[in-house]
Amino acid sequence: MSIGRPRSAVDALPAYRPGKGAAQAEEEHGIQDAIKLASNENPLPPIASIQAAVNAAASGVNRYADHRATEVRARIANWLEVREDQVTAGCGSVGLLQQLALTYVDPGDEVVYPWRSFEVYPIYTQLMGGVAVTVPLNASLGFDLDAVAAAVTDKTKLVLLATPNNPTGTAVTTDALADMMANISEDVIVVVDEAYREFLDPSFGDPVQDLVPRFPNVIVTRTMSKAHGLAGVRFGYAIGHPDVITSIDKTLAPFAVNAMAQAAALAAIDAEDEIKARVADILSERNRVVQELTAAGWDLPDAQANFVYLPLGDRTDDIYLGLEKLGVVTRPFSGEGIRVTIGTPTQNDRFLTALQSAGGSGASV
Ligand SMILES: *Cc1c(COP(=O)(O)O)cnc(C)c1O
Repeated sequence: MSIGRPRSAVDALPAYRPGKGAAQAEEEHGIQDAIKLASNENPLPPIASIQAAVNAAASGVNRYADHRATEVRARIANWLEVREDQVTAGCGSVGLLQQLALTYVDPGDEVVYPWRSFEVYPIYTQLMGGVAVTVPLNASLGFDLDAVAAAVTDKTKLVLLATPNNPTGTAVTTDALADMMANISEDVIVVVDEAYREFLDPSFGDPVQDLVPRFPNVIVTRTMSKAHGLAGVRFGYAIGHPDVITSIDKTLAPFAVNAMAQAAALAAIDAEDEIKARVADILSERNRVVQELTAAGWDLPDAQANFVYLPLGDRTDDIYLGLEKLGVVTRPFSGEGIRVTIGTPTQNDRFLTALQSAGGSGASV
């Protein structure tokens, strides 16, 4: 029982479970020097110029920020070569996903997404009283876009596609998405959630260039939480048709994109070269980790983000606990697999060594 009669949709919701922190693992297991590879964060502190911009903005936080983040929208429009009215900003891209749910999902409306995918999709769907329609992943732990299109009905309001997908890391090309769009009505909003875009091989295409101009019902969400190392300040953005942008803007909580987030976003766009260099380092580490695991007998799904996914099935909980006791905190999906964020080279070595000790050798998709 809860005080105050929460809506049944809220009562039924599980609490959001963030990745476990290193300090908590140290306390639970009586260990030291635990590392967190559980939330797909950037392992390095933010770039100096971004930190300086956040510090400078902190001196003005007695004032409300610009609710619309006008300057940042203009900069993003310029950066991505779209019009200003095609851009919005949100409190992280999960804030934008929540705005999309608030905007489009009435009780009983359907929300289609492949599963397993990002955990906030079922939460926001349920919160609105929507009906989740999930489409199984294919044998390579990627998306079956024909099945996604086939799952869309008259009741569907949203399709949610994380590419690269969290937690499996697989991606779909914009060509494949365009083929799928040909079979989906313009009444259905298709969200291309590109939280990991910066880590994706460019051969997959750019949905902002390849899809948004062709399909008014496609909206692309992106974030500065992962590649840009700004998970703690909360800045996400979206690019789509001006009508969609206008609708979802109505649902932004007042001043949810705070002054420090806006300053960080502007500084991050200015620091694009430094960020690209850091992304290149993470990619080379990701490729090294994939190579070493493959050499050890693993058959992994295609890794296109800043993490790898170990399809451990029934062994998931055991291996997860084994890793954690050795101070390597990862993200388990019980009965399915473990997602491991790419960290610094030293952290990645710790993971690879711990995985061997924990008995997690060679498994197939
Ligand atoms: C991490 C993540 C996000 C968003 O993170 P924010 O910090 O809210 O920007 C969105 N989608 C997916 C698939 C993610 O993994």
